[in-house]
Amino acid sequence: MKRVVIVLGIVVAVLLGAFALIWFVPAVQDRIVQSAMTRQIAKNARAPYLSDDALHILLCGTGSPMPDMTRANACAAVIAGGRVVVIDAGPGAWSRLAAANIPGAKIDTVLLTHLHSDHIGDLGEVATQSWLGGRKVPLDVYGPPAPEPSERTTDAEGEAFGVVGTEDVVKGFAEAYNSDAEFRIAQGHELVPAEGARMIGHDVARPGPEEAVTVYDKDGLKISAFLANHDPVEPAYGYRIEYGGRAAVVSGDTARVENMVRFSKGADVLVHEALDRDMVEMLAKALDASGNSRAGTMARQVIAYHTSPVDAAAIAKEAGVPLLVFTHEVPPLRNGLMRRMFMRGVADAHGPGKTILGKDGLLISLPKGSKDIQTKQLF
Ligand SMILES: [Zn+2]
Ligand SMILES: [Zn+2]
Repeated sequence: MKRVVIVLGIVVAVLLGAFALIWFVPAVQDRIVQSAMTRQIAKNARAPYLSDDALHILLCGTGSPMPDMTRANACAAVIAGGRVVVIDAGPGAWSRLAAANIPGAKIDTVLLTHLHSDHIGDLGEVATQSWLGGRKVPLDVYGPPAPEPSERTTDAEGEAFGVVGTEDVVKGFAEAYNSDAEFRIAQGHELVPAEGARMIGHDVARPGPEEAVTVYDKDGLKISAFLANHDPVEPAYGYRIEYGGRAAVVSGDTARVENMVRFSKGADVLVHEALDRDMVEMLAKALDASGNSRAGTMARQVIAYHTSPVDAAAIAKEAGVPLLVFTHEVPPLRNGLMRRMFMRGVADAHGPGKTILGKDGLLISLPKGSKDIQTKQLF
């Protein structure tokens, strides 16, 4: 008994001594933190998804404009053959790309599904941080053209809205970040080539109603745009991604649309937006009851131009897509009960396929030459 007490005493003394060393001795603290940083950064640089031959889709934003501290707004990154193509750059997108250790130098292109703020708000950050991260050439940004003149509105002074497409939106971002570029170049001239500070927008001409147009085709990675239905946002695109015999589709914002079935056929994964109508109606009622019926009406207005989880599952079933991943989840799912309600009827509607609720940091991997689908939460 006495021996046990002595041994325990020694153990406690050693632990207290180690704690005192860590907590009170700066040199020990410095060594611990330096070694942890070195190990972590070396591990990040070896991330297999940055160099293997699989097609990967990283969810870098699965939220909507409704506040959710756990989600950035719309963003999905395609990682294949050492390249990264970012689909939508909603507010918070860059922080998620950085958290997933995506090197700025590898970001090649940004594709926009449409020009709503929750899909473009972080474009300036994605451009600037990827340049500071080593991108040496201008950032190409592709997306929809301006709406047709017949669809434009004007304010009281006759000033027209909806007159700019992706090309002009990107010019606006470049202008807004012009001084930032100057400051960065002045600070680290030889490390940040001025050419990389530029961003160039390209309008992708509206495809025919049942047509897909190629917007990206480099070293076996092919991405094409097709029409979604986000009326009155005209046009809005979905993207089909192909690499190494594997395929994925990112829906963008859309109501249920036949094109999603058409262009998801043969795909391994469909990343589809989803809005739970019943829960948005509950939210609207709660807003009405609080005296804010203006916000309640606005909440109801978004229902028509999004897809319900069950409808997205029916699309995946009809197209024969084995994995459906929800993104742009509305309303924010604050707890397990809301997540369960969001998934009501989904398994039945998708039949033999699997459906998961996407979260920021989810990496979906489709290895070349196999049918395998892997998912991993990176953070
Ligand atoms: Zn939208
Ligand atoms: Zn949106």
